[in-house]
Amino acid sequence: MSQNAAIRMAPLSSRPLASRRQASELARQALFLPRNADAYRHGMLRCIELVQRKLTETGQPFSGISPSEMQQRFEGLDLDRQLGDLEAVLSEVERLYLDDAVYFHHPRYVAHLNCPITLPSILAEAIATPINTAVETWDQSAGGTFIEQSLIDWTTRRIGLGNNADGVFTSGGTQSNLMALLIARDHYCASLEGHPGNRDHGLPAESPRLRIFASEVSHFSLQKAAALLGLGHRAVVPVPCDEHYRMDSQALAQALAESQQAGLLPMAVVATAGTTDFGSIDPLGDIATLCHRHGAWLHVDAAYGGGLLTSTCHRHWLAGIERADSVSVDYHKSFFQPVNCSAFMVSERQRLGYVTHHADYLNPASQDEDAPPDLVDKSLQTTRRLDALKLWMTLRLLGSDALGELFDRVIELTREAYRLLQAAPDIEIIAAPQLSTLVFRYKPRDDALDEATLDALNAHIRRALSRHGEAVVAATRVQGCQYLKFTLLNPDTTVDDLAAIVTRIQDHGADFLKRESVAAPTRHDLAAALF
Ligand SMILES: *Cc1c(COP(=O)(O)O)cnc(C)c1O
Repeated sequence: MSQNAAIRMAPLSSRPLASRRQASELARQALFLPRNADAYRHGMLRCIELVQRKLTETGQPFSGISPSEMQQRFEGLDLDRQLGDLEAVLSEVERLYLDDAVYFHHPRYVAHLNCPITLPSILAEAIATPINTAVETWDQSAGGTFIEQSLIDWTTRRIGLGNNADGVFTSGGTQSNLMALLIARDHYCASLEGHPGNRDHGLPAESPRLRIFASEVSHFSLQKAAALLGLGHRAVVPVPCDEHYRMDSQALAQALAESQQAGLLPMAVVATAGTTDFGSIDPLGDIATLCHRHGAWLHVDAAYGGGLLTSTCHRHWLAGIERADSVSVDYHKSFFQPVNCSAFMVSERQRLGYVTHHADYLNPASQDEDAPPDLVDKSLQTTRRLDALKLWMTLRLLGSDALGELFDRVIELTREAYRLLQAAPDIEIIAAPQLSTLVFRYKPRDDALDEATLDALNAHIRRALSRHGEAVVAATRVQGCQYLKFTLLNPDTTVDDLAAIVTRIQDHGADFLKRESVAAPTRHDLAAALF
């Protein structure tokens, strides 16, 4: 500690008696303990009332506040001085957070893969948070362990991964993809002659030749994982797609064959079931056959498309997923669960052993037949929330068909929205929808605008919508060009909502072009006057 800091942090005993008394009284009331049960109930109810008011009163998905305006509100806050009473804290939370939060339940929030969440999942949070189960070992969790395990088993059955499948809850698709590639890497390296295994000995000499194949529109977390795993971004080979943004299996076959001829080691293929931008589903069956032929691990990233497991109409779009070595599913995307709620699964349970570590204080290795079920044996994380309770209460109260109904509805909405966009002469859509996204741009028909102007135009539209708070849409780049994106996960969004957003897109676009056409000659005139 520096000398200055030491002076500022005067020891408790030298503080005035009144402030010490107050701190010790607040400390007495601080914790979730039987003596504070009434305060617990009162506080929960006040929070519920606040959130309920926001739910019913919030008219826009976003206030439009800018980062610098938000920054100003945080200036001068003294975190060393508590506000003391709950009402003051709640009104500060309202001012600093809730007034300007981005509301995913609003029908005109159509940006990213965020969903309105089920009521039972919120109730589950109200139980899981105070009990604060740490699910990593049986001795900290008991029933929580079985709740998580039952849901893993339920999901692997839905996928059809077979009787030897197993898995674990994760923080999200990013962690699941990291686990997939870690296990695929270690499994591959275990088969190399003379290599005693990555876990204890690190990477073998062959590791710079390891390659992972994924479509050119797969999720960026694969590159991140490859870097973390000591393989580097360049170990991920982008495979071209067909016109529907699905991996071209012919191109994959060629890439695998070429890499083998070049002496490289194709350790894994990642097929995406629901790409983040296009909702496209790679041809899982064809890819599985190629993986089998080349001895490569097949991971299916179903972070988004996993919701089809509950669909009564479209489950068959996932045909072939049952042949995967591993699968990831984000319940916090297409199962309408709160963040975080996600799982990673393998078809051969013993392969999860690549992440097992036995710590004497936590989960000592046991020869015992009835060793306790410690989920930490299968996880990259140690302390971990009982995120499974959300999905559990959702399934027990609503059932899986209701979830499927919600996902089917947004798929149907997206098809209707596609027809709407097709009918608009100044909207260019990039592809027919597959799950529930639409990628498009504003492009006035009779204006011969160059690509740079189109980029600026569409970037402006997105900013203007967000600044007015009237709708939140996403942006993405396709082949270097700026596009807008609707991600539809709210079954309450209507085609009329989307038509209204399209009208605003056209208005903001026309405004921009009007200003540009006024501004351009002005600049020209100015230059002429100067020279
Ligand atoms: C969202 C997404 C991920 C990452 O998941 P997180 O839960 O955000 O970590 C991975 N893959 C795909 C296809 C995704 O859509």
